[in-house]
Amino acid sequence: MSLKVYRKKRNFKKTQEPYGRARKKTTSKRVKSARKKSRKKLTYLIQKHAASHLHYDFRLELNGDLKSWAVPKGPSLDPSVKRLAVHVEDHPLDYGSFEGIIPKGEYGGGTVMLWDTGYWKPHAEDVNAAYEKGDLTFELDGERLKGFWKLIRLRNDPKNWLLMKITDEYAKQNYDITEKQTTSVVTGRSMEEITEDS
Ligand code: MN
Repeated sequence: MSLKVYRKKRNFKKTQEPYGRARKKTTSKRVKSARKKSRKKLTYLIQKHAASHLHYDFRLELNGDLKSWAVPKGPSLDPSVKRLAVHVEDHPLDYGSFEGIIPKGEYGGGTVMLWDTGYWKPHAEDVNAAYEKGDLTFELDGERLKGFWKLIRLRNDPKNWLLMKITDEYAKQNYDITEKQTTSVVTGRSMEEITEDS
């Protein structure tokens, strides 16, 4: 996927969301292998988004863009709880620093908070194959979410995936992290404060 869908949905004269940088289409084999060797850390983030329906946008950097899932109930640290994660269009990498408001009437209009930021590490050697298969296991190194997680695509509809915690030292039962953590991980602001400041 490219950023075509992302850009088509938005009017950049009205929203302050990033347009996304242009990337060179041709990358030489030498550059590619050099990049692979450098093993740059991959960005992970969650944005809490009060659009027409409140949800948490779960984003993982892959191939230079952010693969994105809208999680209505947000993540759960309880491995027995599986959260619906609806796959949405790829977002540009610089979307990962966006916090503010999308104007009313625009696509996704409402307040956006950076709820968690950090890095992720795919478990599979071939992350693209795992993604295509709809079975991603990974480790999160965020401020709020850590340890092993899974995203699994459901068979009934390719848009529908499930996000779940894998049992490890960071798993926690009977604990609602979205209820405990209600401020921006970057600016410390509440949803109301972000709305007022914008
Ligand atoms: Mn959203």
